[in-house]
Amino acid sequence: MSALDPELVAQARASQAAWARQPLARRAEHIRALGKVFARRGDEVAEVVVAETKKSAGDAWFADVLPNLELFDWWGGAAGQATLAPEPQAMSRLKLPKKRATIYYEPRGVIGLITPWNYPAALPLRTMVPALLAGNAVLLKPSEVTPRTGALLGEIFAEVLPAGLVTVVQGAREAGEAVVDAADHVVFVGSVATGRKVAVRCAEQLKTVSLELGGKDAAVVFADADLERAAHGVVWGAVSNSGQNCASVERVYVEQAVYEPFLARVRDLAARAGVAPVATDAQDAIVRRHLDDAVARGAKTSGAYPGAVVLTDVPADAEVLNDETFGPLLPVTPVPDAAAGIAAANASRYGLTMSLWTRDLDRAERLAQDARAGVVTVNNVAFTGALPFAPWSGRGESGHGVTNGHLAMRELTQPKLVLVDENDAPEAWWHPMSEQAVQLARDTVGWLAATGLDKLGRTVGVLRGMKQRVAEQKRWLAGK
Ligand code: NAD
Repeated sequence: MSALDPELVAQARASQAAWARQPLARRAEHIRALGKVFARRGDEVAEVVVAETKKSAGDAWFADVLPNLELFDWWGGAAGQATLAPEPQAMSRLKLPKKRATIYYEPRGVIGLITPWNYPAALPLRTMVPALLAGNAVLLKPSEVTPRTGALLGEIFAEVLPAGLVTVVQGAREAGEAVVDAADHVVFVGSVATGRKVAVRCAEQLKTVSLELGGKDAAVVFADADLERAAHGVVWGAVSNSGQNCASVERVYVEQAVYEPFLARVRDLAARAGVAPVATDAQDAIVRRHLDDAVARGAKTSGAYPGAVVLTDVPADAEVLNDETFGPLLPVTPVPDAAAGIAAANASRYGLTMSLWTRDLDRAERLAQDARAGVVTVNNVAFTGALPFAPWSGRGESGHGVTNGHLAMRELTQPKLVLVDENDAPEAWWHPMSEQAVQLARDTVGWLAATGLDKLGRTVGVLRGMKQRVAEQKRWLAGK
């Protein structure tokens, strides 16, 4: 039996069709109302997230509850609605007379959303809210590690939205596959290995897919950095949510000149940060494997896992510097200068985010152009995923989807061009294909390529040619 009842898919489709016919302003009202329900049930969300992921209450509140209020507000407000505004296009009245063209954005239909366990409320919401605003229905497949959080999201949406618009599909791989098969467009957030399988399944069915995958994100600390802010930010970026963040700081490159004082501060703060256990036994095994591999290759450690561990003298080919750890391990490596730090950070299969720490803000903004990452933060880290306007996207194996903002909306909708023509004269490229037609095309190319006085001189000829062409077409239409 399929992991997804076909009746549920039929309901989602029927509900979507009616929802898409509602005016945008009405759908936006629902989104704002959802924000109120979500706020009212914030305690329940935090509680179930903590119970299912073992994360701290602070991590649950600051990442899975608090930022979502802004999410409902932004998409339900003017800025979010503007992402769906029809876009009239400018057209030359001379070359294309009496026509107007407008791009409309229409929903894709049923969005299949497959999500991981690390932020089991925040990650689904980032796609559900804009997807629904656009007029789609959503099939949400939460991680099998966090089914109750998924069910609670379903309940919250059901308080406000018509039945069938959001369907929560529980289960593991088979449920994910069924969601892919039923959806019109797939948004997948998770590991590279699973993302690859989902992409292949979508390709077989010629379905579009957005992939938000893993990371091995780096922080680069310049010699002129405010070391106190840098150390505090980097430690938070590395061990908050126990390091189980796709944008977690998993590598630090520090200019040699400040390596020792920075390291000392990081060791101190990491030892005092307090780290909850990772969510699953499988995740725990990966973290231990990376730690053991680094130590076997000669790395030195301070701190002891399951707490935060700062690693130094880690050889470049160690797993902990190359594969996603998703745990509270923090390898710190000296580099001769900032450019070398960015080059080392770029040398990765992944490219999700990068943080630069320096007092020279203009130089940092210039160097940010060299970073192979979808998000670069200067003197901050990892938090921009919570900004509804800010595109979140990856390079390389970090995937090719965009979450948040108007660019995410372009993935959750399809463009439709409507061209309206009031022209009663035939178009120059319509029949008959005569010598005169070819001459007009040739003259027009010459006119388009010309400049200055030459162009002016050719204008008259082209206008005359157009007139003659219309006359020729009229004769042809009259059978003469
Ligand atoms: P995962 O890939 O194991 O699972 C993700 C989801 O896919 C789950 O819901 C799972 O049930 C489902 N799934 C498994 N096999 C499937 C299949 N064959 N077809 C369809 N669905 C299938 O990931 P995880 O361990 O739950 O999450 C951790 C990963 O997520 C990390 O790699 C992390 O970097 C990544 N992540 C990325 C982002 C981002 O925005 N780039 C955000 C958070 C997490």
